[in-house]
Amino acid sequence: MYKRVAILGIDGMGKFNAKASTPCMDELFANGAVIYDAVTSVPTISGECWGSMLHGVGPKTHGLTNAVASTKPYDVNSPYPSIFRAAREAMPEAKLASFSHWNPINTGIIEDNLDVCKGHINDDTQLCDMILGYLDANDPTLLFVQFDEVDGAGHKFGYGAKMFLEKITEIDALIGQVVVKYREKGWAEDTLFIVSADHGGNRRHGHGGRSRNEKLIFIGFAGKTVKAGTIAKMNVKDIPAIAAHALGLKAPETWTGKVLEGIFL
Ligand SMILES: [Zn+2]
Repeated sequence: MYKRVAILGIDGMGKFNAKASTPCMDELFANGAVIYDAVTSVPTISGECWGSMLHGVGPKTHGLTNAVASTKPYDVNSPYPSIFRAAREAMPEAKLASFSHWNPINTGIIEDNLDVCKGHINDDTQLCDMILGYLDANDPTLLFVQFDEVDGAGHKFGYGAKMFLEKITEIDALIGQVVVKYREKGWAEDTLFIVSADHGGNRRHGHGGRSRNEKLIFIGFAGKTVKAGTIAKMNVKDIPAIAAHALGLKAPETWTGKVLEGIFL
């Protein structure tokens, strides 16, 4: 059991962090559990994939696309609640927070009736500063973060290109700042850290398809009960079930994502 879970998402990173310099994640996951070939949802698009990461089911079930997430709030009575709704229903007093560069996550993917503190700004560094300021004054049970600029670099320079990999290194440093804040606060011992991408991309074509570079993503877990090593198999929709398990919550029965054996001691 953990007092906190922090899900730190890097849009478009896929598994390309394996090719980039990532000293902060390397240190965070030195004794953690990692997988570089977890499978994300198809189509490999943000709305679909973040939807699966937060709602524990695939896109055909949660129904989220970029257009849907951008134009309407998520049904607060859906049979496929987000991890935020699962947390709120079990923990009425808990502080829950989502900081997202891509605002449809806040407006269209996470339900809007849950008293979740939602922050948004179109700049990853400023978003990180906003998160650090929030953490100075608040101790969230569940924190979700989406950094967007790695995906932007992928669309501009090609996924896997030098400038793209350098952007991963920049965002790695922001992840490091968030983790350091948890340590300074004395929270890290009781926190499960999860880092994941929503999807990857191709050197020329962006993303949306089923190729390995689009579909395979990194997921890492760090925490006191995490069994160090490599995870054999995982799907993006397993993340909320694992987060719920870590917080001692019962996962909604409709979630098809599961807690796979072997992650925790
Ligand atoms: Zn994306």
